[in-house]
Parts: sequence; structure tokens; C-alpha cells
Amino acid sequence: MDCPRCSATLKTYTLEGHQAEVCESCGYAGVAVEHGSEPEEFESWQDALARFRDG
Ligand SMILES: [Zn+2]
Repeated sequence: MDCPRCSATLKTYTLEGHQAEVCESCGYAGVAVEHGSEPEEFESWQDALARFRDG
């Protein structure tokens, strides 16, 4: 899957049973969920990914 913003290859992260498609080129993050996406959960994803990338 390619990034909808810049067409770079997205990386798939799995955290706490959820998957997210993340572009390391432009910072795009798409959350793959089966039962509707919630903006609040998306914000927590950004925090989780920030911690993940900080190591
Ligand atoms: Zn991108």
C-alpha cells in the first residue's frame, strides 16, 4: 500500500492489537479498524507512534 499523500511505501505497525499504516516520509498515519474509527483513538495513535519512534 502506498501513501495517499506522497506515494511512498507505507509501513505497518501493530500496537495493542491494532494496525496502523504509517508514512515515514510525510508523517501520514492511517488506522485500519473494522468497526469505525474514532478521532480520540487516532490521537492516542499519534502519541503511541511518537513513543514507538523515539524508542
Ligand atoms: Zn507520505
